[in-house]
Amino acid sequence: MFGVEIDPLRMDQAVAQISAWVADSDRRCRFVVTPNVDHVVMLQYHEGLQAAYRDAGMVLVDGAPVLWASRLLCCAEERLPERVAGSDLVPMLFEAADEQQPLAVFLLGAALGVAERAALNVRRRWPAIHVVGTYSPPVGFERDERENEKILGLIEAAQPEVLVVGLGAPKQELWVHRHRGRLTAKVALCVGATIDFLAGERSRAPLWMQSAGLEWLYRVASEPRRLAARYAKDAVIFPRLIAQEWWRMRQAVRSPS
Ligand code: UDP
Repeated sequence: MFGVEIDPLRMDQAVAQISAWVADSDRRCRFVVTPNVDHVVMLQYHEGLQAAYRDAGMVLVDGAPVLWASRLLCCAEERLPERVAGSDLVPMLFEAADEQQPLAVFLLGAALGVAERAALNVRRRWPAIHVVGTYSPPVGFERDERENEKILGLIEAAQPEVLVVGLGAPKQELWVHRHRGRLTAKVALCVGATIDFLAGERSRAPLWMQSAGLEWLYRVASEPRRLAARYAKDAVIFPRLIAQEWWRMRQAVRSPS
């Protein structure tokens, strides 16, 4: 849909696949992206983000409206089975670790001090998760080669299996895509505000809002200054994309060659 190939995985399947990548002897770093409506809108024009998405090992549906669009547009076999939000995926992956199979994790992103607070909470709640490093880079770090080298060095020294990247979109996807060849982790997860949630810095929407697909509403209500304009733009563009996609699929059914 919308030029994006989304993997039709349930949460348990995504966790199992990531755990298999961690256990794999292949040294390549695979990475996971989790599109919401804003990503889909950006993907219509942002070539760097398109390239990052093409290179991603797994694309999981984060935004409820993207899931609804698949129910509306796709035939039964192609519909996405459920929402697999990055902020749910990380705790579920942590739950899957145990003393026999601990997981070495590096937390990259969030404001100064937040990643350390997240690490404390993670160690307390999931003893099988070994947080081997944290770093919250300064504003504008992505344009500073010395800072980028420093981050890559920190990750290399810590030797994590999983790199949790919370730098916001599209920065996190572009950064991981650009440096993927030098990332020593087995898997990088591009998961937005997850480090804030782990730290208790920000709260998730109440469960009823999550199950009603209204997490975006909670987010915009809690950060109106940052998000209102973005969501207003997306609210105009996304229905248009659905209409275009519907028309494209209809034409494809009519002339299958
Ligand atoms: N962030 C960061 N460095 C940056 C920009 C953002 O660490 O240069 C962090 C920010 O502190 C927050 C997260 O990225 O923890 C933003 O996540 P969110 O999903 O809210 O961002 P979005 O993708 O919606 O912009």
